[in-house]
Amino acid sequence: MFEVQNQPPPLEPYNLFSSDAVLRDATQREGAGWAKGELTALGATLGKPETVQLGFDANRFPPQLRTLDRYGHRLDEVEFHPAWHELLGLAVRAGLHSSPWADPRPGAHVARAAGTYMLGQIESGVYCPLAMTYGSVPTVRHAPAIAAEWLPRIFSRDYDRSFRPARLKSAALVGMGMTENQGGSDLRTNTTRADPSGDGSFRLHGHKWFLSAPMCDAFLVLAQSPKGLSCFLVPRWTPGDERNAIQIIRLKDKLGNRSNASSEVEFHGAYGQLVGEEGRGIPTIIEMGNYTRLDCCIGSSALMRQSVAQAIHHAWHRIAFQKKLIDQPLMTNVLTDLALESEAATVITMRLARAYDESDEAAQIIRRVITPAAKFWICKRTPFVTYEAMEVLGGSGYIEECIMPRLYREAPVNSIWEGSGNIMCLDVLRAMERMPNATDVLRRELGDGKDSRLKAFTEQLEKRLLVIRERNDESQARVLTRELVLALQAALLIRHAPSAVADAFCASRLGANSGSAFGLLPSGIDLRAIACRAASAN
Ligand SMILES: Cc1cc2nc3c(=O)[nH]c(=O)nc-3n(C[C@H](O)[C@H](O)[C@H](O)COP(=O)(O)OP(=O)(O)OC[C@H]3O[C@@H](n4cnc5c(N)ncnc54)[C@H](O)[C@@H]3O)c2cc1C
Repeated sequence: MFEVQNQPPPLEPYNLFSSDAVLRDATQREGAGWAKGELTALGATLGKPETVQLGFDANRFPPQLRTLDRYGHRLDEVEFHPAWHELLGLAVRAGLHSSPWADPRPGAHVARAAGTYMLGQIESGVYCPLAMTYGSVPTVRHAPAIAAEWLPRIFSRDYDRSFRPARLKSAALVGMGMTENQGGSDLRTNTTRADPSGDGSFRLHGHKWFLSAPMCDAFLVLAQSPKGLSCFLVPRWTPGDERNAIQIIRLKDKLGNRSNASSEVEFHGAYGQLVGEEGRGIPTIIEMGNYTRLDCCIGSSALMRQSVAQAIHHAWHRIAFQKKLIDQPLMTNVLTDLALESEAATVITMRLARAYDESDEAAQIIRRVITPAAKFWICKRTPFVTYEAMEVLGGSGYIEECIMPRLYREAPVNSIWEGSGNIMCLDVLRAMERMPNATDVLRRELGDGKDSRLKAFTEQLEKRLLVIRERNDESQARVLTRELVLALQAALLIRHAPSAVADAFCASRLGANSGSAFGLLPSGIDLRAIACRAASAN
């Protein structure tokens, strides 16, 4: 047998919180310093070899649909590997599905963001029901009677995996059904019907083309009722303890996100309760969408962070041409560039999470404008980061035994779901139009104009906004959104990161050549210092 040489050790065990300077600083700065102890403990748990293995197992043994029992009775159940349940249980016990609502306090959304950011690095599939449950709370609150019944279960930190009526369970998770076969972006085309049944409830007939995590206990569903498109809470079991008439037709065969089930369903007179005003379904459910869009930023930043941590770890240990890869100048350039992208994504995500902890007008504007903007740009950058980081590992990065292929396959999903890229950019234009103080608030957020590079970039951005408005030119919405996010990322790094990081970001992202391959940083940057800052356990 040949001798194994020059192979790096696995990046485990390691603490995903204490080894991550950018995350630690951002958590403190954005108001969740009090959560340091819990986050450190969670970071240690997530970085244990056995937890990392759960992520692999949950993806290697994907969920199975059981439509009927052996006698032909409908079951409409999905079976998951035990690893899925273990990971979801771990996350629920950490409160990642609802802690800011169950235990509200300054910094609560930031603390949860830091926790989910770490979880998403180990396994992204379980993030889906957590994100939807988290996002469901403001929408469920539009129906006080439903909220009184469901929120105590949603707030519980038990993970109750049993499939039975929610009233018998100690805890509950909530999913959502908006997308239909004929259209997911244009929700007005929804055809699912909700007929009043005379007792205050409704009966739903129709379908949903995507309904993820179908073993959730209830779903927020859009359907056409007599007064127009409305939002309904549709539980898996009826109040009479019967399986609700939600038939799972098939599970999607997805590119990534394979540990999680995403289904197609039909409603055959399914029991539902109205949430919010009848006919105002889109504004009601869009509140949930804001939170799940924040989670897309967190989830994609997490994928970037894990990619960079793995790449730097590998380069730290692997030798080629008599030098560690990390010391090969061109590789240092690539790693530094990747680290910059990851840090910029993390700082804007954590800043955005703070806006969800605040309620003044500025916070509302940041939430409304920056959530879709950051979702667009962070999610667009993630596939490039995962791909480039994979190449750092050479051929081994392409092999399923390591996490890189999983990160790569997961990378596009957050850009598609919860409003695809174009829809996010059009939403940014709409939000800027509707919020008269948005420009002032964003100007303040961008800083005092002392940095000449950022000042010039911001002036160009403001001009672009004016021209787009004058011409009502939607075709430039991506250009504007990208510039808005880059300006904010630069401002945050100038204010909070070491000057080497801020300088490198401005030099590479605010100029003409930004946005192509990684590893194009100009000379004169302290590459090694930035790469070392992003290293995890070396
Ligand atoms: C893994 C996964 C899980 C999902 N889970 C759920 C779930 O649990 N619940 C749920 O409801 N949905 C879910 N979805 C569906 C997802 O939210 C939709 O696929 C998404 O909103 C896009 O809708 P669509 O597929 O109908 O595409 P379309 O609406 O047909 O859009 C296609 C493309 O056209 C673009 N586009 C649309 N309108 C415009 C315009 N005016 N100008 C410019 N471009 C435009 C879009 O940006 C997109 O790129 C899931 C999707 C995936 C991939």
